[in-house]
Amino acid sequence: MSVPSNSSSKKHVTLIPGDGTGPEVVNSAQRIIEAAGAAIEWEKCEAGEQVFRRGLPSGVPTETIESIHRTRVVLKGPLGTPIGYGEKSANVTLRKLFETFGNIRPVREMPGIPTPYQGRGIDLVVVRENIEDLYAGIEHMQTPGVAQCLKLISGKGCEKIVRLAFEFARSEGRKRVHCATKSNIMKLTEGYLKRTFEAIAPEYPDIEAQHIIIDNCAHQMVKKPEQFDVIVTTNMNGDIISDLSSALIGGLGFAPSANIGNEVAIFEAVHGSAPKYAGKNVINPVALILSAVMMLRHLNQFEPAAQIEHAVLVTLEEGKAKTGDIVGYDKGISTSAFTDTVIGNLGKRSTKWRVREHKPIRLAQLSTRIDYVTVKSRRVTGIDLFVESPLPASELGKSLESLSEGSALKLKMISNRGTKVYPPMGAMTDCIDHWRCRFIGRDAAANIDDQAILALVGRVAAQHNWMHIEKLPEFDGNAGFTKAQGED
Ligand code: NAP
Repeated sequence: MSVPSNSSSKKHVTLIPGDGTGPEVVNSAQRIIEAAGAAIEWEKCEAGEQVFRRGLPSGVPTETIESIHRTRVVLKGPLGTPIGYGEKSANVTLRKLFETFGNIRPVREMPGIPTPYQGRGIDLVVVRENIEDLYAGIEHMQTPGVAQCLKLISGKGCEKIVRLAFEFARSEGRKRVHCATKSNIMKLTEGYLKRTFEAIAPEYPDIEAQHIIIDNCAHQMVKKPEQFDVIVTTNMNGDIISDLSSALIGGLGFAPSANIGNEVAIFEAVHGSAPKYAGKNVINPVALILSAVMMLRHLNQFEPAAQIEHAVLVTLEEGKAKTGDIVGYDKGISTSAFTDTVIGNLGKRSTKWRVREHKPIRLAQLSTRIDYVTVKSRRVTGIDLFVESPLPASELGKSLESLSEGSALKLKMISNRGTKVYPPMGAMTDCIDHWRCRFIGRDAAANIDDQAILALVGRVAAQHNWMHIEKLPEFDGNAGFTKAQGED
């Protein structure tokens, strides 16, 4: 790591060149930032492939973590995970270590870049939740033949991402925020984001707020992308639609991003290390240059940011400097020559392009204490006991009814992959050996205590293999669980 000099007026930034083509695009952005006179002092650090190969399973060395603790701002190239090293990506490790909960991915039609959407004025931003959802990575084999991944969505996580989306919209003078979810199917998890969005939206009367189902959002993005301004969404949805949106404006070579947290922000291109182009000096550096522009704005260095953005636009408008991804790698300009052209265009202003007025993003300062949410009343109404069994539903159901006789709980129904199969209702379910057995209190108003639950589990365990229990809670009189398909 290079040690920073003692220059107080300059903002220190951790610089991670990354893997594959990373060092080439990072070098391009670094040269342009320096030529624009931005007040930055770099702390160059390592992460990624070389670190994995040295045997560090996280791919992120302590010196890099210490540097980020000091600087709080990172400009990084893509990081690869070499096959056979490390289970987790160093990128995900960095995002989670520093709780960069919001991933902001703008896409905007670029001058002179041919796409089927040219002239339509695409200018949208996906704000993706970056920590929770299926990406919490909590997975278990429930039986030898059934895998499960927990989709965790918290109220605090929803509030942070929704506020970030509205504040980001305000910082760029944007007028509309869509919230894209699958709340029609996943009412509790995806629905949590929708409900949070609807609760917070009235605090931003200057911004139009609209909910859209994520699959229709994907459809509308391809059909009429210019209708979108800011889209806030959960982690998995955001991962998919942000890559989709990059393709609308010419591909990954033009897609910048920022990972924003309350303490740390990490700026990087959306693309990966593109190893087949590594060391060839042909890769398009625009995505990383525009990520650096986002970083400068985050550091309130609005003038060099605007200067660099204009220089990139003028370069593309002139149409002489085109990289291989646009005109073919046998005809494209080199990465370094493209960078020289942008540097030569610093100080010129694009006449056709509106560079937005930017204000700093005001991040909501939520408490950093553990978010322990309290309610006025709560009780347990029953349990879902997950059982692995080769028996058909009719036999399993009868067995569980007889095992639960005389206990505080009675079998209400059994479902298989979410569809009620016992008591039978005529469904043509292709059953697997993973049964969700729902027991509810014989006294519908009772609170089922742990003793009653454990007694029932003990009885069931004498004859069946169970692997997982979920309590069926009621908070302030509202059921904290969903019904199976076909359950009354
Ligand atoms: P990738 O590196 O993004 O490359 C996929 C394709 O996208 C390239 O072959 C190229 O398309 C195009 N592309 C990527 N960067 C481009 C650029 N700057 N300009 C123009 N075109 C560009 O994805 P991958 O091959 O799936 O992943 C490679 C490695 O990167 C993996 O180890 C992965 O884990 C890692 N990765 C890291 C990050 C990150 O650090 N944030 C993100 C994603 C992936 P053509 O082949 O059509 O030319």
